[in-house]
Amino acid sequence: MAKTGNRYLTVHPWMIIEEGFHPEKSQTSESIFSLANEYQGARGFFEEGYSGESLIGCYLNGVYEERYLREPSAYRGISNRLCFMVNTANWLYTRLELDGERLDLAQSHFCDFRRELDLRSGQLQREFVWETRSGKRLKLIFSRLMSMAIKEVAFQRIAITPLNFSGPITVTLGVDFSKLHRSFQENFWVCPRKEANSILGISKNIHHKLFVGFEIRPLPQGSERLESPQFIGQRFSLYLQQGQETVLEKMNVLYTARDPRHSEKETWLEGQALLERYRDLTYQTALKQNMEDWGGFWERFDIGIEGDPEAQQGIRYCLFQLRQTYRGLIDGANIGAKGLTGEGYNGNVFWDTEIYCLPFYLFHYPPAAKSLLDFRYNTLVQALERARQLDCEGACFPVATIDGTESCTLWQHASLQFQPTTAVAYAIQHYVRVSGDEEFLYSKGVEMLIQICRFLASRGQWSPRRNQFGYYAVMGPDEFHMMVNNNCYTNWMAKKTFEYTLGLLAKMEKVQPQRYASLLQSLHCTPVEIERWRIMAEKMILPRDASTGIYEQHEGFFDLPHIDIDAIPETDFPLYQHWSYDRIYRYDMIKQPDVLMFMFLYRSVFSLDEKQANYDYYEPRCIHESSLSPSIHSIFAAELGRLQEAVALFRFTTRLDLDDYNHNTAEGLHVTSLAASWMNMAYGFGGMCSDSDVLSFQPVLPPAWQGYHFQILYRGSLIRVEVSPQQAWIRVIEGNPVTLKIGGKVQEVDGQGVALPVPSFH
Ligand code: BGC
Repeated sequence: MAKTGNRYLTVHPWMIIEEGFHPEKSQTSESIFSLANEYQGARGFFEEGYSGESLIGCYLNGVYEERYLREPSAYRGISNRLCFMVNTANWLYTRLELDGERLDLAQSHFCDFRRELDLRSGQLQREFVWETRSGKRLKLIFSRLMSMAIKEVAFQRIAITPLNFSGPITVTLGVDFSKLHRSFQENFWVCPRKEANSILGISKNIHHKLFVGFEIRPLPQGSERLESPQFIGQRFSLYLQQGQETVLEKMNVLYTARDPRHSEKETWLEGQALLERYRDLTYQTALKQNMEDWGGFWERFDIGIEGDPEAQQGIRYCLFQLRQTYRGLIDGANIGAKGLTGEGYNGNVFWDTEIYCLPFYLFHYPPAAKSLLDFRYNTLVQALERARQLDCEGACFPVATIDGTESCTLWQHASLQFQPTTAVAYAIQHYVRVSGDEEFLYSKGVEMLIQICRFLASRGQWSPRRNQFGYYAVMGPDEFHMMVNNNCYTNWMAKKTFEYTLGLLAKMEKVQPQRYASLLQSLHCTPVEIERWRIMAEKMILPRDASTGIYEQHEGFFDLPHIDIDAIPETDFPLYQHWSYDRIYRYDMIKQPDVLMFMFLYRSVFSLDEKQANYDYYEPRCIHESSLSPSIHSIFAAELGRLQEAVALFRFTTRLDLDDYNHNTAEGLHVTSLAASWMNMAYGFGGMCSDSDVLSFQPVLPPAWQGYHFQILYRGSLIRVEVSPQQAWIRVIEGNPVTLKIGGKVQEVDGQGVALPVPSFH
């Protein structure tokens, strides 16, 4: 279905540009212009203060707070503890005063506004001319960056040029812990220690410690130190000369051990040591380091699209924001559904991580993919406990989490959705297949898989009438149908998880007999238990209409009342905000792919005819209310030769936030969609398939494009896929030759590569 974007940013290959301020989009822009470096992130808010709509948000990956939403439910297994990524310290706090007037773009007169984010350096810059009520004109350039080289360092730079006067301006720069967490309208910090230019915050319930120290250059003589319970700063006067630029820099160190048990004293001393170490670091040096870092990334992993500037900007923006959010360099970090750009989804991690984000890292920096799996392994204890709460055995991974516990307080999701659990199993297989890291598999993967199978075996039930196995009272990925029986996705993924684990255990028994025996013994896993999984897999119910080959999303789906989704007025979207909760559930309308989702994850298993039949049935019923949706449809459309449709959906995915397609970018970026854009490119247009033993490609070229290229890392070799109207050329550009399946033929690919014609579809 068609959704329309709301374009207000300039299209440019390497920059995101806002020409002229769009106050009605102020919070959307704050999300879009967010900066991050995996460790910390800040929204693109105006540092000088803005009395219009704004969310001053600065976040640290893994720094969270908790809240109990109500008294514990009388019903068992319902979680009432919400963990959320907490808003922290505004290290950009700035105030500018001239002739008694304070700069505030919601009130002040200004012109020539321009804001730009450079994807080649991660620098965000904003300039405009402030025209004071007293008639003075002042050109201001605010710049900021988050160091990719030193995760704790974040920089701010202000360049001030008086255009028609010479005289003083009053500047205040500081660190402010007093901001409210938007979602709860509450502040979660106490600041027990403040000295010179350093302040320590402790979060109220979890007791995360955050040190913030800064260095202002130059700090004029006579500067006044400001202090209040949650704030420290410096206030000073600068004498400005007409036509001359005066530059101020503020280097900030934000330090947290991310472990609430870390002591106040240690955090303070370690923070101070970092501040001391980076005291002389200049903005220019940090900018140069960022350019080198980003340069290295783009050189290896840029995606080029010729003939479609909008898609080109979109895909680069996605890669940029995804890499800002997570790089796999910080132990225990993960990818919240909104990254470090807003409070939507409370900063929680979903199945999105394993199914959508992990492939990007798997094909760019495999250790990062492994770290994501380590996160699940390190929270296995919580998953075991969650299964107990649901009266099951084994491990049930949470629907939403920060610390491994279930943080989704909507029981319909938390108690009925198991795609996070099967996603972990899928990701283990995917990671091991692509990376070849069998040590991970035998040390951690197999243990998780056994516990997942246990859960799946205990949660599933036998249908007495059919003597078949399935899942009752569940919700699949499509959240518009809850409490259904035999959701096909759930059943399919459970079946595949059993089968993979059975194969793995059989192999392990042969190749690592001792390890196998001690593993089974330590987990009290018996051959009888394993045999049960085999029968469950064999007898799994997979609802399907044999005459059409269409899988039924769940039992009874084909009987649901039909709704023409194209007749729903665009103003009704997002539906969850405009339709009563239960109204959404009454139709054959779906929020996101469900059947198509497992057909995508196991795309090498299904024939083109099966894909065609299921796509034709489910596509017109999908409203893409989830940002996880359009990319999967685009991948199908590309494979089915519906290239125009594939490109339209790709644009929706890559520009979801830039053009605010879903009208909710203000709450934060759709990080999963950023990752989905990469999948869309590689799996969709590149026709990549990574669910069987040999990695394969079958590229197509949309008529609207003159060409495209992307590169992936596979088994230590850098592979380039380059497509033009004449041919698709796939070659190794760094490393050893690799075995690939190209155009249906398994072959050894080296530096010369393999060229094949690109199918033309009409
Ligand atoms: C989707 C889920 C997803 C979550 C976080 C929801 O709208 O339906 O599948 O996990 O968003 O992105």
